[in-house]
Amino acid sequence: MLIAANWKMFKGPREAAAFLDEFAPPEGVDVVVCPPYASLQAAVGRGLPIYAQNVHWEAEGAFTGEVSAPMLLELGVEGSIVGHSERRQYFGENDETVARRTAAALEAGLHVIACVGELEEERERGETEAVLRRQVSVLEAHERLVVAYEPVWAIGTGKTATPELAQEAHALIKSLLAVPVLYGGSVKPENAVELLAQPDVDGALVGGASLEPVSLEAICRAAASLS
Ligand code: PEP
Repeated sequence: MLIAANWKMFKGPREAAAFLDEFAPPEGVDVVVCPPYASLQAAVGRGLPIYAQNVHWEAEGAFTGEVSAPMLLELGVEGSIVGHSERRQYFGENDETVARRTAAALEAGLHVIACVGELEEERERGETEAVLRRQVSVLEAHERLVVAYEPVWAIGTGKTATPELAQEAHALIKSLLAVPVLYGGSVKPENAVELLAQPDVDGALVGGASLEPVSLEAICRAAASLS
């Protein structure tokens, strides 16, 4: 079971270091933390694997504002999120760029958490399966690739997919690609057990509830209790 903490644009270097010095995950669960770029160096070497929140497909070049896989590896960063819905919604990320970022990061030696998930209106129109099929079709199975199913309407909204709905989406994704699938979308200590207990849920990508050591620890304990 893998619990990945996505800190989004929260926690500068001092806060990141203080969190990691205080945080003690229980035995029996893998935990990775994804701080913003500016805090990666402060976070590395404090006991947990550190992932970035994005990574470019080129090793270097004229790509202002981007960071490459070799640069992350040089810092001691072990992986990256790719294709988070906030990147897709606000920064023009699409299936093609997600595919390029993912392939290059894996090739360079990073782990990747590739995010997929439908918008609320896509679910209402009955398009969830088609959207997931399209988003997953650009990815290729790899031993360092994990997919995160994050229904966009459930991210940071407090709305959580029911365990049945999450299970259905995870089973579909796993039928398309043989990789572990994390659930993401308002995972909290109160709902973690029922979501993580689903047979095709292999862990969680946690945003808001990963910002406090107490709630992240509680989610990790829930995961460990099911392992
Ligand atoms: C996320 O950022 O990937 C996420 C799932 O956020 P939250 O847990 O806050 O919904």
